[in-house]
Amino acid sequence: MKTWVLTCPECGSAELIYETGMITGQKYRCLRCGYMGSFAVEREIEVIGDDVPEGHGRDRSGEHDA
Ligand SMILES: [Zn+2]
Repeated sequence: MKTWVLTCPECGSAELIYETGMITGQKYRCLRCGYMGSFAVEREIEVIGDDVPEGHGRDRSGEHDA
């Protein structure tokens, strides 16, 4: 199966966490290179078996399930 993950635009790492700001709105933070910003690269990856990365793009699942 395939799933979508958000990756860092700086280093390409999928170790991106979502942070909610009060005024600035949504933000992403990269745990690898320290990038912070509202932009993240969405990438489709192939997942083998049931090894689905929890917490990545769950709110978008309906959008890409087709
Ligand atoms: Zn990064």
